[in-house]
Amino acid sequence: MSEPNVYRLNSKIVATATEEWLTKRGVTKEQIGQLVMLLQKDYFPELTLDECVRNVDAVLGKREVQNAVLTGIQLDILAEEGKLLPPLQAMIQHDEGLYGCDEVLALSIVNVYGSIGFTNFGYIDKFKPGVLKKLNDKNSNEIHTFLDDIVGAIAAAASSRIAHRKQAEREAETEALEESENG
Ligand SMILES: [Mg+2]
Repeated sequence: MSEPNVYRLNSKIVATATEEWLTKRGVTKEQIGQLVMLLQKDYFPELTLDECVRNVDAVLGKREVQNAVLTGIQLDILAEEGKLLPPLQAMIQHDEGLYGCDEVLALSIVNVYGSIGFTNFGYIDKFKPGVLKKLNDKNSNEIHTFLDDIVGAIAAAASSRIAHRKQAEREAETEALEESENG
């Protein structure tokens, strides 16, 4: 028998909503993958866009990440609709410099893959390449105060994931080589 008053989390719905809302807000996984490529190509010249997108996918599969995406996009939309209470409405609408909750929310994404993500996040937040430039365009009627940091954080987290995995791969290769040499 169903219990209407009992809240049950449906992970699939959260994951699907995350992907749908990113798309609706004009961000594709390929665009985030391109940011990852930019962050990692100097370290791993053999890296492909496909591999970057797969790592973005893995990051988007985490609940902490989905929660941050949904929360940030919701606040951006409410700000676009003028539905936030003052003075928060004006601060988010104008991406007020001393309002840092957008960065703090994004850090919950960067956190998922450890400290190397922080460096990447700082870098990308400073230079705002690719899709981040579009999200930061203050001449459009859209508000992406939260989403720009979130997208940068997803790219930074995917970059850390790649760095950790590549290191593990290298170590496994060295180990296998040593074993074969030692017979
Ligand atoms: Mg921001």
